[in-house]
Amino acid sequence: MYLTQSLQRAVQQHPDTVAIIHADRSATFAELADRVARLAAALQDLGVQPGDRVAIASLNSDRYHEYLYAVPWADAVLNPINIRWNPTEIAYALKDSETSVLLVDDAFAAAVPAIEAQYDGLGHVVFIGDGPLPDGLLDYEDLMASAEPVEDARRGNDQLAGIFYTGGTTGFPKGVMLTHTNLVTSAMGSMTSGVLHTTGGRVLHAAPMFHLADYAMWNAASIAGNMHVTIPMFEPTAVLTAIEKHRITDMLLVPMMIQIVTDSPERGNFDLSSLRRVVYGGSSISAPVLARAIKAFPEAQFTQAYGMTEVAPVATLLLPENHVGERLKSGGRAAPHSEVRIVDTDDNEVPRGAVGEIVVRGAHVTQGYWNKPEETAAAIVDGWMHTGDGGRMDDEGYVYVVDRIKDMIVTGGENVYSTEVENAVASHDAVAAVAVVGLPDDKWGERVHAVVVLHPGAEVTAEEIREHARNSIAGYKSPRTVDFVDALPVSGAGKILKRDLRAKYSGPGTGG
Ligand code: ATP
Ligand code: MG
Repeated sequence: MYLTQSLQRAVQQHPDTVAIIHADRSATFAELADRVARLAAALQDLGVQPGDRVAIASLNSDRYHEYLYAVPWADAVLNPINIRWNPTEIAYALKDSETSVLLVDDAFAAAVPAIEAQYDGLGHVVFIGDGPLPDGLLDYEDLMASAEPVEDARRGNDQLAGIFYTGGTTGFPKGVMLTHTNLVTSAMGSMTSGVLHTTGGRVLHAAPMFHLADYAMWNAASIAGNMHVTIPMFEPTAVLTAIEKHRITDMLLVPMMIQIVTDSPERGNFDLSSLRRVVYGGSSISAPVLARAIKAFPEAQFTQAYGMTEVAPVATLLLPENHVGERLKSGGRAAPHSEVRIVDTDDNEVPRGAVGEIVVRGAHVTQGYWNKPEETAAAIVDGWMHTGDGGRMDDEGYVYVVDRIKDMIVTGGENVYSTEVENAVASHDAVAAVAVVGLPDDKWGERVHAVVVLHPGAEVTAEEIREHARNSIAGYKSPRTVDFVDALPVSGAGKILKRDLRAKYSGPGTGG
């Protein structure tokens, strides 16, 4: 198994089909393979040796796509940079991974001097943007033009393919080492479940390509020989425009993006009838948001993926036919390549229906965190990856992710799972999005606090929200306090940053 296999097959089978579209640029599979072979040669000319890391700090583009193929083609290691990182964080990651070549687009070119001031190991910075060439950077097209295409290294299996950083939701991201086998296994498992179109698919990349959620879709779609369309970053109108213009058939969005596109007042102005499959995951989705999305895209089948960077990334899938009733709250069942269990703190499997930690095993599980042997030993025990997520499993193997263990709330001695409270609040008609956190409280230990985004023009009081929640969940689980905001803070991967909310609301004077 190796990552470039998909490109080799596509060139053999349909060289003249369009492989990738970005803005007004496009390339066929034959053209893409030629550019990939040139970029691989250019990287080697810059001194990249087998196993060396090559980083990219860029919004989504066709060049990101070329990078994802050229690095394994050159027998090097992918190192995609989180688009939310500041120069200090980027310098830290480059230093941590001892990376000497970095690709940057227009959005990151200005950060290069600050990165280089904090890390002196960068031998070369290549500019892949559209604007004028910044001082000191190498021009991508010039490098490609002067390079002699090289043969695909075709190395893979247990060899390191990339260092992918986790979402950074709970703290500073950790570098996860993933091999070719890890990544291809996860993609193949999703594909055998029918997550993607196998022929003629046109896949939209609106979620950030640095993050493994989008990479998983990229890899599966590439194996299927699908066409890719990239937009620089998530923006609802850009998503809707791209779907109509390119007759997109498949897309992956994180729940926050699903909610924003579904609730966009512009949605009705677009022809979205080409859309056949929507994959979502990366954080919990509230049942009301999911129900609205299914109604908004009636032609599309919905699949939920649950997983994490550490498992490359898919562990469970909720297939379209299982999007019914109570199961709408489930993350699905173990994907074909994966085994999933719920265990207690001693690693014993708990009875069905009881809440414990979700653990995952299979050929997709990482060998560990880069440069972090202690964290690795704590996370992987007997091959079981400890997800840090609380969950329960029903009699037919459906997994319900109840909360990150770090996000669970203990109030008056009772456990409260934020997802349950979020579902209760989100079912109010006025609510567009909600996040629930525990805040320090003198009397209760922690108190349940809801941060709510209302639909435009909607009016509702905190007391009405609390009363509405109490109709479906017990009083002690219902939010004690409610705040209204215009938008929730999100990470580079598009996940709600509960640690930011806790910090914001647990300031002095709000703890009582
Ligand atoms: P960090 O590990 O740096 O704090 P992160 O955990 O968000 O960030 P990722 O690997 O991107 O990093 O995300 C994996 C986590 O996302 C899972 O552990 C889980 O908490 C959450 N998650 C992913 N998919 C789902 C899903 N379908 N439902 C609920 N939660 C999900
Ligand atoms: Mg994590």
